[in-house]
This record gives sequence, C-alpha cells and structure tokens, in this order.
Amino acid sequence: MTTRKQPSKTVEHAVREQCKQACANPDCREWSTATHELHHIDEDRSNSVVENLLLLCGSCHNKTTAAVFSRSDVLLWKRMAEAGYLPPPKGQSPNAPVMNIQHNAGLAAHNMHIEKVQIPRNRKAKRVPIQGLIEADPDMRTYADYLVKRYIEWRKNGQRFDKRKFSPGSAHGILAEGFGSVSSVMLIPQHRFFEWVAQAQYKIDRTAFGKNNRNRNFHTWEEHLALRHGSNRAE
Ligand SMILES: [Zn+2]
Repeated sequence: MTTRKQPSKTVEHAVREQCKQACANPDCREWSTATHELHHIDEDRSNSVVENLLLLCGSCHNKTTAAVFSRSDVLLWKRMAEAGYLPPPKGQSPNAPVMNIQHNAGLAAHNMHIEKVQIPRNRKAKRVPIQGLIEADPDMRTYADYLVKRYIEWRKNGQRFDKRKFSPGSAHGILAEGFGSVSSVMLIPQHRFFEWVAQAQYKIDRTAFGKNNRNRNFHTWEEHLALRHGSNRAE
C-alpha cells in the first residue's frame, strides 16, 4: 500500500479558493462543496502541494481517473483556475451573486461574501488571453472564429432541410467537444489547433446545408492566412 499524504488544511483551503469553491471543469462548475474532492494532477497522491491539486466534483473526478478527461484537459483547467479565468460557479455570475435557495443559507451567505470581496466587477472586460491557447494567436483565433460563425450560419441555413432546433449559443460547445474546453473553442490548446480545425470542418460539411451545398463550405487555413497577410500584415 502506498502512503497518502493528505493535503494540509491550508493547502486545501487555497485550492478551494482558487477554484472559487466549485468544480474546476469549466463545463460543470458544480457548486456543492460537500461532495467535492481534491484531484492530484500528476496522480502522485503524496504530492499534495497547491500547484498539483484541483477541486473537482465527484462525477468529474471519476471521469478524470477513468481518463474520460485527459491530463491536458486537467492542466488547462488548472491554468484557468490559476489565472482566475474559470466561468463563475453554476448558477452564479461574478457581477450579480445570486442566492441559490437549494443551498443552506450559511453556505450561500459565505459564498456571496467571497464573490463580493474577490471578484472585480470588470474582470471580464480586462481579461488577457492565456498563452498557449487558440485565443492567444491572432491567426488561429480569427480562423476559429470564422469556422464557428460558418457552422452557426450553416446550421441555420439547414433548418429548412432538417427542421432541427438550433441555438447559436450551443455552437462553441458542439465544436469544442473532445478538446478540453467546453465553454469556448478559443480555450483549446494551440498544439491541438489543426486537429480541432479538421473536426470543425467535418462538422460543417456534415450539416444539412453543408451536404446540400454545391459550393465549398469554408475557406482553408492556408487561404485564411493569405487573406490576412497576403496584401497587408496589419491586424
Ligand atoms: Zn464537475
């Protein structure tokens, strides 16, 4: 049997605060601390330092240990937590903390206090891109944005063929599927960009409109670079 070194109370507190007391999976952000667990990112249970720990709900922790979520997913979540970029806990917004009547008053009141003290009102506006993610590279960011818009447009155009309900707000989630970030394609690591592009292009081609379109469904990455830099290198 391996010996486990439990994180100290101070370390546990720091990790929970870093994750704003909610599951660090950006798509989950479940806020019910009783069931949450500290995940050892490097899977070494004796390495109980803040840098190696992440707060996850029971469900996301199980999926992480079962490798449904990869190590790079978890590392991305950790970097987001460190930078304060995780979405607000489920049912809360940084600008308008809301009492969740399903939780007991003591816990909600405590959390409201934290929200008020720690989250600046303009955090979203001041947000700087995280290095290493698609959002930090202007060429990648603009092409990703183009593909997301194209997907939305094609899904909308396709509604006369497939009659499927589609909400544009779901586009990022659909297109980022399997790439760690579930809230935005901009938060996918750059090293997975081309893999992501291939999947996004495939999904555009597979829309009802894409299948019926006699023309090309999108311009390529190479064409995108030529459009951006061909005649004028200014952004
Ligand atoms: Zn979770």
